[in-house]
Amino acid sequence: MKKTLLELGEFNFISEIAKRCKEHKTVIKGIGDDTAVVEFTKDKFLLLTADMLIENVHFTRFQPPDDIGHKAIACSISDIAAMGGMPHYALVSIAFPKNLALSFAKKIYKGIQDTAGVFEISIVGGDTNCADKIVIDVFICGIVEKKKLVLRNGARQGDCIFVTGSLGGSQAGKHLRFTPRLKQARFLVSNYPLNSMIDISDGLVSDLGHIVTQSKVGAILFEDAIPLSRNVYSVDDAYYTGEDFELLFTMPKKYSKQLLSKWPFKKKVGLSCIGEIIIHRKGIFVKDKDSRIKKIKKGGYEHFR
Ligand code: ADP
Ligand code: MG
Repeated sequence: MKKTLLELGEFNFISEIAKRCKEHKTVIKGIGDDTAVVEFTKDKFLLLTADMLIENVHFTRFQPPDDIGHKAIACSISDIAAMGGMPHYALVSIAFPKNLALSFAKKIYKGIQDTAGVFEISIVGGDTNCADKIVIDVFICGIVEKKKLVLRNGARQGDCIFVTGSLGGSQAGKHLRFTPRLKQARFLVSNYPLNSMIDISDGLVSDLGHIVTQSKVGAILFEDAIPLSRNVYSVDDAYYTGEDFELLFTMPKKYSKQLLSKWPFKKKVGLSCIGEIIIHRKGIFVKDKDSRIKKIKKGGYEHFR
């Protein structure tokens, strides 16, 4: 019998919660994807997602306050993008220590508002509290056309695995000032038949792990094809460090050549085919530079661990 959160781990804790959550029939997808999906109109779903940032866990007071605010809302925008939807409304709940400089608190909030403005999101409420550390929770409600919704569980044999941008090195700064790939996701779901998608928040191996587990398939990654960020020398950094906030998606191979040649964001945001979905074996494998195939070590960011 496990007694502590450390022994159980974040993902197992969430699975245990999920077992005991009853869902109304209007819930299309509850716990387990980048956002929840619920019925809305005849041809649209609502998307609901919340993300919390805590001082000294996700950021420190030595970092620019407007960047902290940006990240607090950008994480949730990234989750809406990963479902193929558009973000529209936000509730912002914050806790500040009593002695925090007013200017710092205001700048955090300005960071949230500026990014909300850029993505045309209306902040329509929230909650303000006092606590020993700064805590910021942003809830976003978005909308997706039913035919554009992409879940984590649809990957099929023979799908190409794609990733936007480059991976690794996020701890060196990118993790605060990243651009959620909303435009790219909307382009993809409007023009291509994606089978599955997730945003990379815990690391490539961990987040691809959610796709393969939920889709009941396996995957092979091509080590040579993993796009590494500048200043990243080891592919392990791309595999295991979180917070790249790039899109990871799968799509039938027959469309991949066209997508790669027509990708309209080439100049700023790359696109790479980094592997393929298999069904004869479960789990994630890597084909290394010498074409040897080996099982990948599990890992990635997990709270309590
Ligand atoms: P992401 O990295 O995409 O933000 P998470 O790993 O944080 O996703 O969460 C995975 C799933 O678990 C999501 O569906 C999220 O809504 C759900 N979840 C996380 N914490 C809780 C909680 N305390 N109660 C209910 N659902 C939760
Ligand atoms: Mg996510």
